[in-house]
Amino acid sequence: MTQDFHIKGFIPVSMLDWPGKVCSIVFLAGCSFRCPACHNGDLVIRQGSLRDESLAGVLSHLERRKNWIDGVTVTGGEPTIHDNLPQLLRTIRAQGVLIKLDTNGSHPGMIEALLSEGLVDAVAMDVKAPFTEEEYSKLAGVQVDIGLIFRSVEILKASGLEVVFRTTAIPGIVEEPQLRRIRQSLGEVPRFTIQGFRNVQTLDPAFRRIPQFAPERLERMRLLFETPAPEAVNPRLVAHAG
Ligand code: SF4
Repeated sequence: MTQDFHIKGFIPVSMLDWPGKVCSIVFLAGCSFRCPACHNGDLVIRQGSLRDESLAGVLSHLERRKNWIDGVTVTGGEPTIHDNLPQLLRTIRAQGVLIKLDTNGSHPGMIEALLSEGLVDAVAMDVKAPFTEEEYSKLAGVQVDIGLIFRSVEILKASGLEVVFRTTAIPGIVEEPQLRRIRQSLGEVPRFTIQGFRNVQTLDPAFRRIPQFAPERLERMRLLFETPAPEAVNPRLVAHAG
């Protein structure tokens, strides 16, 4: 019987997902969290509504384009909840491509296992909230063991891999004070990025009523907290560009 790797989505080519790389993106269904701000409801709670993508199809795409695809991002949902993730990554790796893992950090044991086998080259970990159980659980939509999240952070910081921690700034919930605490808890990290909350198709319908940050406010938060610090953008230069 063919093994189910829970592949429910595939983007053959992306120039944006992995900075500096041309990559394919594989989406795995299922997640350990139920973040109210999540935009991937189909992958998280309505997996049955999605068509299965075959691993064979993914592999044949990689084979045909191996001269110009640098890597594959494996994302979700939350990929690390699947016991057969190492096997999936070994199979993808055999195509001679790099692998980036997107994770919410809830399964440090799996992250450790993947790293010790050398199955990932880069990791993007979402940091939802300041590191208290109450705040984190609220934004993850489930009771979170904050010790597990912090262990993932420590494993990744010590890994020497290309690692980015990223937080979604949400008006009234994750603003400057929360971002400051997150940055303090993370300590020195190679890369920390902030993305702005979008109030469309959120898992919790109540979050669709939360306004989005004005671009200027988001830019200020990025200047204050991102690592490395983004270049300050002069709006007049942008307006006259091109
Ligand atoms: S946003 Fe939350 S619920 Fe959605 S896929 Fe990511 S970790 Fe899972």
